[in-house]
Amino acid sequence: MSHTTRFAPSPTGKLHIGSVRSALFCYLLSKKSGGKYILRIEDTDQARSTKLFEESILDWFQWMGLDRDGWPGKHTGEEPYYQMERLELYNQYVQRLLESGDAYYARESSEELDAMRDAMNKQKKPFHYREIEYSSEQLEQFKQEWRKPVIRFKVPTQESVTFDDRVKGETTFQMKQFGDFVIVKGDGIPTYHFAVVVDDIEMNITDVIRGEDHLTNTAKHIVLFNAFGHALPRFGHLPLLMNNSGKKMSKRDDPADVWLVLVDQFRDEGFLPGAILNFIALLGRNPGTDREFFTLEELVEEFDMSRVQKSNAVYDYKRALWFNSEWIKRMPDEEFVTTIKDFLFLNGDEGRKEIIEQIDQDYRMKLAPYIKVRMQTLKQFKDHCKYFFTRPASVDPELVNKQKMKITDELVHGFLPDCIDVLEHLTDAQRTEEYIKEELVSFIQAKDLKNGQVLRPLRAILTNVQASPGAFEMMYVLGKEESLVRLKEYGN
Ligand code: GLU
Repeated sequence: MSHTTRFAPSPTGKLHIGSVRSALFCYLLSKKSGGKYILRIEDTDQARSTKLFEESILDWFQWMGLDRDGWPGKHTGEEPYYQMERLELYNQYVQRLLESGDAYYARESSEELDAMRDAMNKQKKPFHYREIEYSSEQLEQFKQEWRKPVIRFKVPTQESVTFDDRVKGETTFQMKQFGDFVIVKGDGIPTYHFAVVVDDIEMNITDVIRGEDHLTNTAKHIVLFNAFGHALPRFGHLPLLMNNSGKKMSKRDDPADVWLVLVDQFRDEGFLPGAILNFIALLGRNPGTDREFFTLEELVEEFDMSRVQKSNAVYDYKRALWFNSEWIKRMPDEEFVTTIKDFLFLNGDEGRKEIIEQIDQDYRMKLAPYIKVRMQTLKQFKDHCKYFFTRPASVDPELVNKQKMKITDELVHGFLPDCIDVLEHLTDAQRTEEYIKEELVSFIQAKDLKNGQVLRPLRAILTNVQASPGAFEMMYVLGKEESLVRLKEYGN
């Protein structure tokens, strides 16, 4: 059976990692079955929706490579799935409910509703709105006051709804716990609950996968589906993402926290889209193998909704970093260079981008494998830029000398000229990392020194940073000439 799913973000904020998870699971479920994956912008909450958020959501989706079909018009020329452009359609559906008596006009002001709620609260009872019969005088008065009515759905209070949730299993709600909810607001715009059901019917959605925070809403949606005599889609509610301190993750979490929640924070930090998807796909879902790395295509292949765990998934930022570093490591060198250039450009780092463009491709390719294995995020590239592209202006003696290892100025200046001599005698054919290593090791042995006593100072002199590839690797990547310049400058 082919599954048609949809991701239906409301453009009322930036894309949260939890929403990307719902989107990804919808995508995987439909793609695996050869079905359709629709993106629908739910912009009926006009007070909170903005164009800016809408565009940012679309951009992030494109960046992550999830934008295959069913895009809103501006991307594919397909029918636009912006709810605000479908008001006429919702109106037709509302008329059906009004005619069948499943919906009615209600005219209380918000103050009157508050008073009704307060009265129930005082009796320690929950407030559930039910239809009120107005006298013709009251109706006349409302008219005079120009009250704008809302339309409410008449909840079948005697019913209970039961559905087999893909994650939670059999779930039941007693409808008497729900008040008659608003389906069209005073301004004539449908509420989320109504538009979502009409669209799911119209778009022949077979599977609704969304966050657990929507679980209770599902009861309202089911009674609406029933009122239209339409078969239910299969529902699946994903457990919430918890932060490291065991609390529910939220858009409002402190962005200064060590873990990120918004997709654009991930991009700015230098995460690869593939790594994010890989990480998210395994959050609270056990693929049933030890394998951890999956491209989007591979995720589609292995996807099985039944492996989503019932318990809340803990989002561990360190694991996200680990995935990213592994993804960077596995990138072909050429792709790595292009990705870095794009990243620097997007982050307004024109200066560094130019440096990379100016050096020749041989050098770029030569250093790629050494940088790649040292980065958790693309942003960290700049730490390595310093010594790969520019000669250190001076070298911090603290990085070179170390009392514990008996590395003193005297020792370093003592062996440095001989070491320079070794390097100077390398022929073109001997400029391999392996050969340099052999030569230096025998040099160290001949001098009766310990490896660290020579390699630590050499590495520091060549780079002037705390962390970099080792001395042999640096000499190989920088090349004979540049290495000699750096060593000689220090020796003088
Ligand atoms: N528009 C809803 C939201 O952003 C999602 C609705 C749904 O998936 O049914 O939370």
